[in-house]
Amino acid sequence: MNFLRGLWQAVIYFLFPPRCPNCREIVDERYQLCAACEEKILRVDFYDRKIPPLDKVLRVTKYRDGSQELLRKLKFDNNLGVVPALKKILDDVSNREEISKLLSDINFAVPVPLHNERLNERGFNQTEKIFGEWLMKKNLPLRNFLIRTQATPRLYKFGKAEREKILSGAFAAATKIDLRGKNILIVDDIFTTGTTCKECAKVLKSLGAAKISVLAFAADFRENFSADKQGR
Ligand SMILES: [Zn+2]
Repeated sequence: MNFLRGLWQAVIYFLFPPRCPNCREIVDERYQLCAACEEKILRVDFYDRKIPPLDKVLRVTKYRDGSQELLRKLKFDNNLGVVPALKKILDDVSNREEISKLLSDINFAVPVPLHNERLNERGFNQTEKIFGEWLMKKNLPLRNFLIRTQATPRLYKFGKAEREKILSGAFAAATKIDLRGKNILIVDDIFTTGTTCKECAKVLKSLGAAKISVLAFAADFRENFSADKQGR
């Protein structure tokens, strides 16, 4: 039996070898990025600019070159098939020093909420799909403290000033909760101008939150954004 199972697995492996989710290059493990894509995409680094009221902003990948395509498949094609690849990327950086530094004093994680209209259309909040399980492993509860009160247009076409106008007042507290003294981590799929996270932070601060940090799956730390306004 074991022999047959082994043989079957070898056949499967031969017919459908694990491939890099980004470039389809053959790799060792399922959902693993190939070395070239990892080199291109993975950037576990803090934003080096001050962006109040946010404290620290950490990203896992650069928003470009592959992470963009993976996230687009998830958000615009509702393709949940890319989720294991995104989770694998997170798992692989899980023990990095930057992650420990970011999470050390966090009490709760809060996803950037979608408006109900968008949620119904997509069927899921992509940020919860990406981070939910991973945060559970980190013993950090993901709480929906925020709601999106306005259905805003897709923001990628708009610049920073326009985004600020569109998003002003777009978020509210989901419940009357006392967050005094709590440190909150906002998780977001894509961070570009930071406008969305800043608006979410304002609401969390109004509930008493002490410190707000951000973990973004992909971020553009001014590498491309100013040139072509690529964004969420
Ligand atoms: Zn690759």
